[in-house]
Amino acid sequence: MRSDDHQIVAIIGAGPAGLMAAEQVARAGFEVHVYDAMPSAGRKFLLAGKSGMNLSHAEEFDQFKSRYRQNADILAPSLRQFDANKIREWAGKLGVETFIGTSGRIFPIDMKAAPLLRAWLHRLKADGVRFHMRHKWVGVEHQQLRFSTPEGIVNQTFKAIIFALGGASWQRLGSDGKWAEIFASEKIATMPFQPSNCGFVVGWSDYFKQKFAGTPLTNVNVSLKNIHKETFSKTGQFVITERGVEGSLIYAFSADIRETIQASGCAELALDLLPGKSQERVIEELSSPRGSRSLSSHLRSKLGLHPVHCALLHENLPVSVIQDNVALAKSIKALPLRLQSPFPIDEAISSAGGVAFAEVNEDFMLISKPGWFCAGEMLDWEAPTGGYLLSACFATGVTAGQGVVNWLRQKELVVGEKENDR
Ligand SMILES: Cc1cc2nc3c(=O)[nH]c(=O)nc-3n(C[C@H](O)[C@H](O)[C@H](O)COP(=O)(O)OP(=O)(O)OC[C@H]3O[C@@H](n4cnc5c(N)ncnc54)[C@H](O)[C@@H]3O)c2cc1C
Repeated sequence: MRSDDHQIVAIIGAGPAGLMAAEQVARAGFEVHVYDAMPSAGRKFLLAGKSGMNLSHAEEFDQFKSRYRQNADILAPSLRQFDANKIREWAGKLGVETFIGTSGRIFPIDMKAAPLLRAWLHRLKADGVRFHMRHKWVGVEHQQLRFSTPEGIVNQTFKAIIFALGGASWQRLGSDGKWAEIFASEKIATMPFQPSNCGFVVGWSDYFKQKFAGTPLTNVNVSLKNIHKETFSKTGQFVITERGVEGSLIYAFSADIRETIQASGCAELALDLLPGKSQERVIEELSSPRGSRSLSSHLRSKLGLHPVHCALLHENLPVSVIQDNVALAKSIKALPLRLQSPFPIDEAISSAGGVAFAEVNEDFMLISKPGWFCAGEMLDWEAPTGGYLLSACFATGVTAGQGVVNWLRQKELVVGEKENDR
């Protein structure tokens, strides 16, 4: 075991939050060492780039901050100081131009994460940031952080630490949430991890899942009454899977669905399969003579419904409703779909839970541990997909990084004053 206490600032976790924090501290002239359990930095960030890296969102700020639900006001100062324009500017300085898509989402022009991460790591190294990969933080011993490394256990002391350890999904990319046990042993309160932006289990029949697993449902409107009796609805698309449903439209409701399941054992979505047609119009079309045509071909020719829509109706409705035009029209406009439970957290895009905001000050420094800061998904917030996840990781990284700089400068000032007084 060796000990080395001349290091200055440690960042534990080389995801987007940790790297952003490292940038702030290094640019202020402090010595920065980044530690990560994995062999390379930003693995989840790179995965995010596989399906089109959505860096942020261009909507106006009040709408933007509302995506963070009950934590909107806590995160607002941080989100405002490193907002979507700043993120675009920052990416531009790394040689990655961005564009705003028709939905308002902001992407790099090539939609990829790898060129951005490459340029970012290159610049951080040029700024003097030192990386220690395969260093897993495993605990605290006599005020020192303890790392498990290929060479054995290493203990280190730091002037300040920023933890950016991520949430608890996609363990194989490094964020296994095990840090929460160490925090608990240090008496730092964390909220339990829960899947966010995840799919949900539906009890499909064998016939339905065999025939339709993998089929997307496009242009469908979903409504949900949440536990506060507020009704939200949104039009978009999701995918039928073997176990249930997932996709961007379901992710948008995932926090409310999860809370409803926790409160009542299940959550019921209302699906409008024809958001462009009124109920009256649907009744009218259904009531036109169908001759010898089957109901499915009648629904297809008169209303443009696909086989997956028809199968969904059969899957969820009793025959008496299917045979009654008015009842069927009502169900086409508000088909109840019962969700039983979230898919496992490891498959989720992100996780809710983590360090409770009551534990940190406005710079995300732990109140009980002066000099220990937190950033990114390990803080207890959640948001839908749409660039909001990375935005908050970047923004909290900036705030924590600047918090460390101010805290260290304050300390230097106090030490200087004490020395002058002697
Ligand atoms: C498939 C997928 C697609 C996504 N797409 C998008 C998108 O387009 N837009 C968007 O906004 N968000 C997206 N996200 C979410 C986004 O990637 C995450 O929210 C973000 O990476 C979290 O950043 P972070 O720095 O807080 O944590 P992470 O990126 O999880 O990084 C945490 C780091 O800490 C390290 N670590 C953990 N524990 C230890 C330990 N004990 N010791 C040392 N190191 C440790 C890990 O190895 C990891 O490198 C996506 C996520 C997934 C899974």
